[in-house]
Amino acid sequence: MKTIRTVQAMAAWSAAHHREGVTIGLVPTMGALHAGHRALIRVARLSCDAVVVSLFVNPAQFGPKEDFARYPRKPKADATLCRKEGVDVLFAPHVDEIYPDGFQTTVSVPRLARRWEGEQRPGHFDGVATVVTKLLTLVRPAAAFFGQKDFQQAALITRLAEDLNLGARVIVYPTVREADGLALSSRNVFLTPVQRRAAPALFQALKAGRAAILAGGRSGAAIQQVMRKVVGKESLAGIDYLAVCDPDTLEPLKHIRDCAVLLGAIRIGRIRLIDNLLVKC
Ligand code: AMP
Repeated sequence: MKTIRTVQAMAAWSAAHHREGVTIGLVPTMGALHAGHRALIRVARLSCDAVVVSLFVNPAQFGPKEDFARYPRKPKADATLCRKEGVDVLFAPHVDEIYPDGFQTTVSVPRLARRWEGEQRPGHFDGVATVVTKLLTLVRPAAAFFGQKDFQQAALITRLAEDLNLGARVIVYPTVREADGLALSSRNVFLTPVQRRAAPALFQALKAGRAAILAGGRSGAAIQQVMRKVVGKESLAGIDYLAVCDPDTLEPLKHIRDCAVLLGAIRIGRIRLIDNLLVKC
């Protein structure tokens, strides 16, 4: 496995592989890799000739009061996992490589970024959209792999890749979970044992919402109430949002017709957890 740290070397590697007709798969990550990331790497490995994993804790997607400095960093373990999974290139640039002096361009996907995570974390999705646009134009993958865990992010990236003709297929892979349903996340390491026991409340709420839809419930407000009741039983959890939305526009649904995405974010202490479930009825 080759580790690349500069934009110039990354572009040169991509150009050389394009000339040889190699199809490249890109898995963008912020590191502290877990089984969710590993699943994305494995699908990329199966569907592309060469796999690039990017490891970049992107300061532009963290708010001033968020945990950029505290975000978990495990570069050695990440490199070991990537090597074991047959990754060809680990692209781990320094912040100055991605945002050199004078950098000022921003990519926005305003309608998809307006609600939910975008509302809770102003500027977050501009940071995501900008860095992903840079990664896709640099690496020029045939396909880029993202997790359904971050449903709004995946929707926004699918949109921007199409809008800007970036030429990569955006593949969204299902959420990998712990045995009790908690979606894997690099930030889960911050949960104390007591908080960890409370954390599955979010997935339980989403499942209760799904069950209510599958039982014939069609009112968005009623399904939202079902979900709020489940989280409400967990004294350590505070609700940021629990919503019933159109999976394409992410706008709230008053009435569910054939499908919906249930989006949720809760707080346990200082830790935010997000999750979602797609429901077809
Ligand atoms: P992150 O390192 O948290 O920015 O995540 C990098 C990629 O891995 C994103 O596309 C995430 O959606 C995806 N991802 C994170 N957690 C999971 C999970 N539990 N299951 C599947 N994909 C995930």
